[in-house]
Amino acid sequence: MPMSTDLRKRLFPVLPEIASHFGTPFHIYDETGIRNTGEQLKRSFAATGFKEFFAVKALPNPRILEIMRSMEFGFDCSSTPELVLSRQAGAKGEEIMFTSNNTTEDEFEEAMANGGSILNLDDITLIEKLPEVPELISFRYNPGPLRTGNEIIGNPVEAKYGVSHDQIIGAYKKMRDLGSRRFGLHTMLVSNERHHEYMVETVKMLLDLVEEISSKLGIHFEFINMGGGLGIPYKPGEPPLDVETMAKEIIRLYEMFRKNHGNAPALFMESGRYMTGPHGVLVTKAINEKNIYRRYVGVDASMSALMRPGMYGAYHHIDVINPLKPETRVDRPLQTVDIIGSLCENIDKFAVQRELPEIRMGDLLVIQDTGAHGHAMGFNYNAKLRPRELMLNSDGSVSLIRRAETMQDYFATLNFEEDTLKL
Ligand SMILES: *Cc1c(COP(=O)(O)O)cnc(C)c1O
Repeated sequence: MPMSTDLRKRLFPVLPEIASHFGTPFHIYDETGIRNTGEQLKRSFAATGFKEFFAVKALPNPRILEIMRSMEFGFDCSSTPELVLSRQAGAKGEEIMFTSNNTTEDEFEEAMANGGSILNLDDITLIEKLPEVPELISFRYNPGPLRTGNEIIGNPVEAKYGVSHDQIIGAYKKMRDLGSRRFGLHTMLVSNERHHEYMVETVKMLLDLVEEISSKLGIHFEFINMGGGLGIPYKPGEPPLDVETMAKEIIRLYEMFRKNHGNAPALFMESGRYMTGPHGVLVTKAINEKNIYRRYVGVDASMSALMRPGMYGAYHHIDVINPLKPETRVDRPLQTVDIIGSLCENIDKFAVQRELPEIRMGDLLVIQDTGAHGHAMGFNYNAKLRPRELMLNSDGSVSLIRRAETMQDYFATLNFEEDTLKL
């Protein structure tokens, strides 16, 4: 099931009160769920020297980063603003992994300044762009034809990321010769993958490569980073990723590696979706209905709040809540509808030809699994503004953690000094 029964029980009865206090639409995130998931990862992978670097792009909100910090997680960043946000949350140095691609020299400057970060280079040509030689260096590995990818990230051969198999040993040799003394190895091959076998295979690939590079170059690896990409079920009935089995099999690989080498690199992960995805929902109100060739229900959110359905045709499960009886399931005849926003783009739909209980104006729609790559992906096309974000705190209270955008925000970039180049 997309949204946990536990969260339904805690959230649905109080939803109308939250909606009338803060206004709709809003994303709301569940602190309890996020903490439980984080603790589950820590517990399952403890035997590998595990550390999670939360992928900031999934949900870049200071309150979220604070929760991650309190679980001793680091951050995975790929831009200067993400670095700044992570440092403002208190992370520094090796608590930040900088996994950028097509990187500018300015970004490397920032990544190495103000406490630094672990640099994870996407290509051998980027070595020359570094302002200085870091003591600790990592490369992102792209195995190309040696592995297959999945739908969202694509086939490794076609993916723009990482260092190729032919170049990887040379990359570490170059950094060793330049003076780097500490090493890590990274990869990220899939997105939203629910088959644990694939993840185990990725760890095996990394450990094999560590073995090969270490023996050829005489260098020691402190960590491998298997990336993010751990999947979640978006549709009812989809089996979840079996993290416990995945961890057991990875730990078995670690035991073998330790037997052969005496020690093993720590296992790093940079999950975004798995950490927060299921622990957020978008709540929006039904405000219009029209019946032409299809039945449409218009809501007060648009794809500025959630791009995934329009962009990837992604399924997000929807529950209908009658605000007068929020704790009981809406028991009305099913109807096939498109749930639409107000953008002048026909892809601005949260659901297409979905069977839902008859929706009445004023009902609240709970669009699920928006805790990762939801609000963060929103945009301003058609001057549609992004909604507020709320936190359902573990003590049951609800806090505003980002206000809704205003027209002033939208116009802010029109505030500038005139600059005309006469030619
Ligand atoms: C986006 C991204 C992640 C997080 O991906 P999820 O699918 O949310 O787990 C991790 N690492 C890198 C380098 C990324 O670009």
